[in-house]
Amino acid sequence: MKPAPQSDLSPRVARVALPLPLPQPFDYLSEPELLPGCRVRVPFGRSRRIGIVVEVAERPAVSSDRLKAVETVLDPQPLLDAELLTSLRRAADYWCGAIGDVIFGALPLALRDGGAPDEFAEEIWRATVTGASARDARTRRGGSAALLETLADTALSASDLDTLLPGWRAAARRLAVAGLIERVQPEARAPRVREGASPVLTDEQADALATILSAGGGFHPFLLQGVTGSGKTEIYLRLAERALQQGRQTLWLVPEIGLVPQALRRLRARFDARIAVLHSNLAEGERARAWLDARSGAAAIVLGTRSAVFAPLPKPGLIIVDEEHDASYKQQEGFRYHARDFALMRAQSLGVPIVLGSATPSLETLANVEAARYAHVRLRQRVHARPPSPVHVLDLRGLNLAHGLSPALLDALDATLARGEQALVFKNRRGYAPVLLCHACGWHATCPNCEKPLTLYRGRRQLLCHHCGRSERAPDACPHCHAGELIPQGQGTERLEEALAARYANVPVLRVDRESTRQRNGFAKLLDRLADDKPAILVGTQILAKGHDLPSLTMVAIVGVDEGLHSVDFHAGERLAQLIVQVAGRAGRADKPGTVWLQTHEPDHPLLATLLKGGYDAAAALQLGERLASGLPPFSHMALLRAESVQRNALDDFMTAARDAVVHPLPGKDDGERHARSADTQDRGGALRINGPFAAPMPLRAGRHRAQLLLESAQRPPLRQALAAWLPRLHALPQPRGLRWSIDVDPVDLY
Ligand code: ADP
Ligand code: ZN
Ligand code: ZN
Repeated sequence: MKPAPQSDLSPRVARVALPLPLPQPFDYLSEPELLPGCRVRVPFGRSRRIGIVVEVAERPAVSSDRLKAVETVLDPQPLLDAELLTSLRRAADYWCGAIGDVIFGALPLALRDGGAPDEFAEEIWRATVTGASARDARTRRGGSAALLETLADTALSASDLDTLLPGWRAAARRLAVAGLIERVQPEARAPRVREGASPVLTDEQADALATILSAGGGFHPFLLQGVTGSGKTEIYLRLAERALQQGRQTLWLVPEIGLVPQALRRLRARFDARIAVLHSNLAEGERARAWLDARSGAAAIVLGTRSAVFAPLPKPGLIIVDEEHDASYKQQEGFRYHARDFALMRAQSLGVPIVLGSATPSLETLANVEAARYAHVRLRQRVHARPPSPVHVLDLRGLNLAHGLSPALLDALDATLARGEQALVFKNRRGYAPVLLCHACGWHATCPNCEKPLTLYRGRRQLLCHHCGRSERAPDACPHCHAGELIPQGQGTERLEEALAARYANVPVLRVDRESTRQRNGFAKLLDRLADDKPAILVGTQILAKGHDLPSLTMVAIVGVDEGLHSVDFHAGERLAQLIVQVAGRAGRADKPGTVWLQTHEPDHPLLATLLKGGYDAAAALQLGERLASGLPPFSHMALLRAESVQRNALDDFMTAARDAVVHPLPGKDDGERHARSADTQDRGGALRINGPFAAPMPLRAGRHRAQLLLESAQRPPLRQALAAWLPRLHALPQPRGLRWSIDVDPVDLY
């Protein structure tokens, strides 16, 4: 990808990625000056498309007279810089994505169709000198006078004007034509750290910071491990401060949109700087502007969720991945990348330090620490000397339960509320009840498309399938025997909310789950209601396990975790340990100690017992030991082929063909030499293990049969080699109508 020498004006071949699910870019003839990273318009079939140049090659792969030419070059300067382009290609390669999908997926929608970057610059207006005297002379009336008055002493953005003077645009047009106001470039303020906003670090924090800073510039991965409240965010802020003082950008990732506001609040309190915010809930114009602010280097800090990891960083200084263990960093459809792992790739190619923060690090990250690939920095104490909350295990065996709550738990709740404090009841199940059963004939509501029970949502009078989203009206009587009484079995958060509200009539009971927080700022509004420090009960799902600030809770009750002890997925133990520790971490505060109650039918389960006795470190060590003994990740590497189809036969045929298409890598005599042979020569002891095809753990979903094939390898290279050879063969297989397939590299679950 060397730029062409000026004298050589022979046409080149541009390799252009188009927004299509195809593994390869397309070749076009181009002018010699065309640079990788520019958008171009090219003929494609009978239409035209916008593509991105990924490479400008010296020699045509195909005889050049058969190639069509690039029609229009849309960007004089590359939209994607060399690092981002290279990293995206690397990601496409690693997670088996189609290059065009991956590159276009990284762009804001508004830029995918050829919009020019300066269309999205912030629109700022101010009065000209003539305008200011016109105001003083009062030569204008009505809307014009008001706008002139508003802009006379200060420049304002269009969005501010929308708020202050609705309908201002008509006046703006008149005044602009008269030369009384003008649109100006956003001021490039030098970012600065606000004075007096930083607390004095604790000794432990100071040590942690010194350790990270002493590594200097360049690629250095760190695991920053510390419980909630141990001051990790303060360390991130200090590191961002250092980057900012050096004129460098910080990329700061959080796993979930609900965590953006609190991070943004702390960043704004600390820095007077441009902060680009990127998440899924932005208007397209806002997203394009934030992305372009990152690209121009104007944004000192880029804060966002998963996809913010695709932001351009021309002046890179630091990457932070908060709550690095969170599975939300894994994209679960389309291009199945992992934002934490991609952040690591980018830190490496950008040559900057990366800090992975968590109270409950993932087993992958712990294994990397063990292997001395990451430095381990720990914060063992909470900043505000809050002691860890004791955990009480409630053995449910043989007890009479009220709506799934044991008498001892209810007593503890009574006492907490009587002291005027707040409690959280955690239950990882949405809805009213997971099963609706007929007492007379035994019928229960089932999803016809998934063959799984439907969840009852009583408030909405609906039965909802959590697997395919199908919903129907909840029947009043049994549709089978027409006589029987329908009984909700088991508890979801809605039922717990109802039961608790009935028991504690004078205390607000707030339910927090995906349903109740779907609207914009829904969660923030709920949290506001808790701010008063009056007695209240929060009922919620795992949304509460993510690092939200819930400062007034003193009691946490974890009910119904036993399902997680028996999952078929080997990730379940790790998830459960993280969930329990994260939820338990919400209890207690400086002036009021917290308590945690854990209800279970299996107090002696090794995972629970280890977790309660030795904490997360012990539970993680136990899990890592089990993974090592069974040769599971992170001690092996996996890629999962998932396929689904309404047609059972088509699915089976495809999976058999897919299996036969696997190419076994064979170790060459030396590194440079690799041979391959077909899969049907049995080779169980080889570098690659092929499991399946078999039915998926959920063999039917949304009316589609589902099957899987798992490739496994103790080392990464044989798996990568096999995938590279397999992928084109999979694309070349007959693709029956209606069959969908995908490859998931390093799957975070096996469903
Ligand atoms: P974490 O990210 O590990 O949950 P935070 O950095 O958010 O921890 O710190 C927890 C609380 O303590 C926050 O309210 C934060 O403002 C405060 N805090 C952090 N470090 C200090 C410090 N050195 N001195 C005083 N308060 C601090
Ligand atoms: Zn019935
Ligand atoms: Zn269903």
